[in-house]
Amino acid sequence: MSAYEGAWVGWDGGTRGMPETLPDSGVRLLPITLSASQVRNYYHGLANAALWPLLHNAIEKPRFERAWWQDYQEVSTLFAEHALSAAENLPGSIIWVHDYHLMLVPQLIRDRRAGAPIGFFLHVPWPSPDIYARIPWREQLLRGLLGADLIGFHTEHYRGNFLRSVSRQLAGTGVEVHGTSVVMPGGRTVSTATAPISIDSAEFATYATDPGTKKEMQALAEQFSGRRLLLGVDRLDYTKGIIERLLAVEMLLERRPDLRTSLAFLQIAVPSRDNVREYRQLRTAVEQHVGRINGLYTEPGYDPPVHYLYKGLKQRQLTAYYASAEALVVTPLIDGMNLVAKEYVTVQNALGGSGALILSEFTGSAVELSQAVLCNPFDVEGLSYRIEDALALPHDARRSALSAMGEHVRVHDVHHWVSGQIAEITAHSKGTYTR
Ligand code: UDP
Repeated sequence: MSAYEGAWVGWDGGTRGMPETLPDSGVRLLPITLSASQVRNYYHGLANAALWPLLHNAIEKPRFERAWWQDYQEVSTLFAEHALSAAENLPGSIIWVHDYHLMLVPQLIRDRRAGAPIGFFLHVPWPSPDIYARIPWREQLLRGLLGADLIGFHTEHYRGNFLRSVSRQLAGTGVEVHGTSVVMPGGRTVSTATAPISIDSAEFATYATDPGTKKEMQALAEQFSGRRLLLGVDRLDYTKGIIERLLAVEMLLERRPDLRTSLAFLQIAVPSRDNVREYRQLRTAVEQHVGRINGLYTEPGYDPPVHYLYKGLKQRQLTAYYASAEALVVTPLIDGMNLVAKEYVTVQNALGGSGALILSEFTGSAVELSQAVLCNPFDVEGLSYRIEDALALPHDARRSALSAMGEHVRVHDVHHWVSGQIAEITAHSKGTYTR
């Protein structure tokens, strides 16, 4: 028997000197090092400039380059081999493959060990079959995924899109979609699941009541004294609708001069993927909008209405911002889930707060957090009214929406998600699962 309970196999991201195990756990860390050209072609190229935009409804135009695809295949083989050798030291283990970076890996493992129990989870959306059909390697990627016993998605909608893509792209090849399963030519069944990921709700509730958080909240209360705080927290990514949000804030300030001195909108933008051209362009655009809005709507003698942080904060610190904000504005044009929304309702609820969540209907989390103030971020004027409506909501209405959402996240936390997925992979790989 191995001395470890499990192993994590992943790209080291260029980090050297990783610990041998995940702190406070029996999970061994088995990092993979990639060459500079693999990072460029596999990661920045195929994963982040082709698959990311494609799977996010081609909200930015995906770029397809053959050299990227070569490296994607090569790196996938590396991952499959490392995962298999880790599994060899862990008798009875399952292999759980995560996300769009590794779509070929399930079948590469299956080719090498036919009976291995394999799960896959997609952390991003699956687009409509018409959009998916654009990628030159559409069949290979589907066949890669279909090496798994179970493929998990955040929502029914993404799962349906995937099954329709399988029917369309693999028609006439003996691959058949039966309900929510796919039957392969040899009779092997691939099941699918809808399992929205979540957060460690107990951990965020603990952060919320931490004395350090209270101190940070006091500092924020001083910084924004006399103002109602409206917050945005995102990686600086074109899927997040940051520009639309800024334009909506601008319209609100234009329409409501009183808010120019009584509202502060703070956008925390975490630096992301600045090796990819579209991300650098987005940063420039966001900074131009912030500058223009403040130039127009800062009243003499007052602080500017828009505040912008271009950096990532520790979750403990972020908790103080969640706790201090009267409203969180989550406006992705498309987002697989959006954990920030779940974190906000958890922190507010833990403190008995009455913050408002303004949430794009194009996020996976809108399915579960239906008591939020839902919005269409493409309708900038409508969004500006939704923000105004949320700020005007009576305290009791906000409080009861928050407690319903907070309670949902408390019950459906990340531990519930992990144990549910592991049970399903185990059961489906034995072919005994009935539901
Ligand atoms: N986050 C963080 N520091 C920050 C901003 C965000 O640690 O300054 C974390 C946040 O707590 C959340 C995650 O980053 O857990 C973002 O997840 P989400 O699903 O909202 O978006 P993603 O970045 O995965 O697209």
